[in-house]
This record gives sequence, structure tokens and C-alpha cells, in this order.
Amino acid sequence: MNFEILRKKMVQDQIVGRGIAHRRVIDTMLKIPRHIFVQEAFAAQAYNDKALPIGEKQTISQPYIVALMTEKLDLRGREKVLEIGTGSGYQTAILASLADRVYSVERIRPLALGARKCLDSLKLFNVQLRINDTEGSPIGWEEEAPFDAIIVTAGAPEIPEILTSQLACGGRMVIPVGNDLEQRLVSIVKNEDGELHLESSVSCRFVPLIGKQGWQV
Ligand code: SAH
Repeated sequence: MNFEILRKKMVQDQIVGRGIAHRRVIDTMLKIPRHIFVQEAFAAQAYNDKALPIGEKQTISQPYIVALMTEKLDLRGREKVLEIGTGSGYQTAILASLADRVYSVERIRPLALGARKCLDSLKLFNVQLRINDTEGSPIGWEEEAPFDAIIVTAGAPEIPEILTSQLACGGRMVIPVGNDLEQRLVSIVKNEDGELHLESSVSCRFVPLIGKQGWQV
């Protein structure tokens, strides 16, 4: 199986073909191997236009959604980024290639450990991972705040204030917000006065964000 050819086709058809124009995002998606982030049984499907199971009832997001969310963060290379929901680590790898430092939080230990291995194999050493598996512990990584960009890759019932408070002035955040069956991707910009500007875009479907300002287990 020639993964490089499949990856090029994925980027051409699913990413560029659907209007993603951010050059750095496109180049990074051409570079990062998605097949190493899924179980071997799913490797042949890794460049297909869909989310895939990664175990523990969680999923690796559809490539287009990864590209769209990343594009909305408009990373230039110097940012400190927070990701909620490491999962497979694929989105983390994309962020690590585009920003200065990534802090990624995952609540399921085996997923975080798997992600660490994949990120190390790609020599992406600018990623700090945190396992947040204590019930009732707050969402995010308050000790490391503020962040220039925040990406939430699990669906929330509403925008958690605990996360917007960890966003720097001038920072950007993307989060899927809605019910358990369907969410809308919400882009948030915090201006220099600390005011939030929200914009809602495509419909999407993520696994639930668990926590006090998310869903209960
Ligand atoms: N970006 C990942 C998405 C994984 S699915 C990928 O493409 O592989 C979303 C992940 O969010 C799941 O692994 C789930 O365990 C995790 N999650 C849910 N609530 C969380 C929380 N409050 N803090 C950290 N991780 C959370």
C-alpha cells in the first residue's frame, strides 16, 4: 500500500477540494502520516473521508475536520497551543508541526500513551501530554495558561468558561458545541480587551467532552 499517494489524494480531494486554502495547513497534512495513528486493522482506511475508531469508544477525527479546525486557528509558528482530547495524537502532530509548543490533555490513559509513542516516532518533542483521569478535575491546563490557541476535539454542550479563561487576549479557540448527536463548529476570538467574538460554522459530530462544564460520564 502506497500511503504517500493515498495521502496526496486525501489532501487534494478532501482538503484543497473543499476549500481549505491555508498553505501551512495543507503542507503539514501532506507531511504527517495519518496511518500510524490508527490501529493496524484500519491502516488501509486511514486516508478515507471519515472518522475511524481508535479504541476506548473514541474516534480519530475526519481529515477535513482536522484541516478546518486547524485553519481556523491560523497558526504562524510561535504559538503556545492547548488541545483538549489528545486521542490518537494525529491532530496533536499537526499542531506540533505548526506551532511552537503544544499542551495536550487526554482523560483516557491508554490513548495518551499510544499518542506519545506516535509523536516520539515522528520526533515531535515540543508536545507536553497530560492525563486528566481524575473524576471532577477541571477541564484544561490552568497552570500553563494563557494559551494563544485552544482546540477542543470533543463535543461540548456549551462553551466552557473554564477554557475561554485560559485563552490569551488576541487568541483563537475552536470547539464543537451542541447535543450528543450533532454539533456546530464554533470559532472564538478573544480581543485585546478580553471580549469574545463567536462565529458558528459547519455541522459536525464528535465524541463527548467529559467534565464539569462538559457532559457527565
Ligand atoms: N483529536 C483526537 C480526537 C479524539 S476523540 C484524534 O483525532 O484522535 C476526543 C478525545 O477527547 C477522546 O480521546 C476523549 O477521551 C477525550 N476527552 C473527552 N473529554 C475530555 C476532557 N475533559 N479532557 C481531556 N480529554 C477529554
